[in-house]
Amino acid sequence: MGKLQARVTSIEYLNADILGIRIRPSQPFAYRAGQFINFCKDEYTVRSYSLASVPELEDELFLNVRKVPNGLMTNWIFGDLKAGDTITISEAEGDCFYVTGNPEQNILLIGTGSGLAPLYGILRDALRKGHTGKIGLYHGCYDTAGFYLVEELRKLAQDHANFSYVPCVSDGEAPQGYAQGLVLDVALKDNPTSPAGACSSAATRSW
Ligand SMILES: Cc1cc2nc3c(=O)[nH]c(=O)nc-3n(C[C@H](O)[C@H](O)[C@H](O)COP(=O)(O)OP(=O)(O)OC[C@H]3O[C@@H](n4cnc5c(N)ncnc54)[C@H](O)[C@@H]3O)c2cc1C
Repeated sequence: MGKLQARVTSIEYLNADILGIRIRPSQPFAYRAGQFINFCKDEYTVRSYSLASVPELEDELFLNVRKVPNGLMTNWIFGDLKAGDTITISEAEGDCFYVTGNPEQNILLIGTGSGLAPLYGILRDALRKGHTGKIGLYHGCYDTAGFYLVEELRKLAQDHANFSYVPCVSDGEAPQGYAQGLVLDVALKDNPTSPAGACSSAATRSW
């Protein structure tokens, strides 16, 4: 797998535990929204991060990185990495992305925590390509502090009648606009078994 250099163009907190990192590869970079790249701290410390960006919509790669207690890579990212730094990344890998050809098929996207990253890319890719079937994105967190990209997702739901965004709170009361329960339970209750092949789905978890 080839490696290349990329420049960090911005880093921002998406919530208290998750950073949104934008990086610009030094050369043309082919990928599909939802794939992942390997991100190198040094020769020995390499970790995978999903691509939340869509190549046709943005010039930079967009990563959502959750802080892991005592994590080798994430301690370094949260403590030392800054805009302007040059890093080494791999080419994109992975088979989880939107495939054209079945625009009327329903899509169910389910994820927790930073597992939203690939789903955010896949969702926007599908909408951009004119998907007409229903798309449901269920994002699960313990409480409302864990959610991020909420405004962006609510706006997409307003703009696209076939897309619904359901943030699910698993711990305690869910305020208005949120569902209560484990994300998988909520998603499957809302979407009872459909005939085989009638729905494609992607499920991720917070890594
Ligand atoms: C395909 C793929 C895509 C991914 N996409 C994302 C993404 O979009 N966003 C995201 O945030 N993450 C993602 N991840 C997870 C990411 O790759 C890292 O695993 C994560 O960031 C933690 O890395 P770290 O080096 O900080 O933690 P590590 O240093 O690997 O440690 C992880 C945990 O294990 C514990 N640990 C480490 N060594 C030991 C030991 N010897 N004994 C006991 N405990 C130990 C640490 O304390 C820590 O809690 C993805 C992973 C995969 C495979």
